[in-house]
Amino acid sequence: MRWILLAAVLVAAAILGVGLFAPTARTPTAAEPTFAFDALPQSLPASVTPRFGSPRTERCIDAPRFAAAAARNAVDIDTLPFAPFKRPETGWRIYAPHIAVEIGSSCAWDSTGFANALAGWQRAHGLPPSGVLDAATFDVMRVRWHLKRPFVILNRTIGCPPAPPPEALALADPGEVYGSAPTQARADALAALRRMAADARAQDPAIAADRQALLIFSGYRSPEENDLRCLIPGSCDNVSRAPCSAHRTGLAFDLIVGAAPGGRVDSTENFNRLAQSQTPVYRWMVRNAHRYGFVNYVFEPWHWEWSPPEQRGATRA
Ligand SMILES: [Zn+2]
Repeated sequence: MRWILLAAVLVAAAILGVGLFAPTARTPTAAEPTFAFDALPQSLPASVTPRFGSPRTERCIDAPRFAAAAARNAVDIDTLPFAPFKRPETGWRIYAPHIAVEIGSSCAWDSTGFANALAGWQRAHGLPPSGVLDAATFDVMRVRWHLKRPFVILNRTIGCPPAPPPEALALADPGEVYGSAPTQARADALAALRRMAADARAQDPAIAADRQALLIFSGYRSPEENDLRCLIPGSCDNVSRAPCSAHRTGLAFDLIVGAAPGGRVDSTENFNRLAQSQTPVYRWMVRNAHRYGFVNYVFEPWHWEWSPPEQRGATRA
């Protein structure tokens, strides 16, 4: 039975497009935390040692043929009009950490080295190698990021996944949860989250110093709970809420990654997501979470899904 399912998933993944299956967000009940902005790098180092991608030293300022592209990126990062998730946005700064990882560059977003790396990525993906981050380039990235989510693949192939059996669920410790609601998740996913959170705190003092970073504010949500939420007219629009939530699998977590002053930890307002995209914990997650089997729904910096071993072959690395 398992090989039949896997074959169906692989075939369908190859031929299907990607839809938006956003998880449901809930409003935390505890006091809202706020986090200081961690400004994105604006300086132009001559070279950097990449945190990811090629082991060679990356040159950041000596690709003069990309000077115009770099200048364009420097403006567009805050001004590009596009609608990557079915609603208008201005600028791609929210997504800059994911983009940097995607193209394997540690250079500043407005550097010629970044534009050079982006041009190489564009060429490899059949796009004009302009070195400019435009809406068409972002859309190819967005599809790639979606296809890394096993929940998306399952939903497009076998339909809305069933809930796990009760015996597969485990209860998170109170100290792992934001708020007081009992929180469940699939036991193997919870174990992976614990490993990741421990390593994040050990590797980054800023994360260790933040007592709320990576606390869970939503885990497993039953199909019945999902259905009840969708009875609210207009509430399940597949963007900020979905008729079939990834949380029903027991593999999805909403994690504290910060919030803008005045923003909720699960607010999809752009100003809030922009602040979240710049926190140390989110940046650490974008660079490292995949090594623990976690994939981000990029529209929601707080929403992470664990890829169970039985599904990893079906997604695209
Ligand atoms: Zn979620």
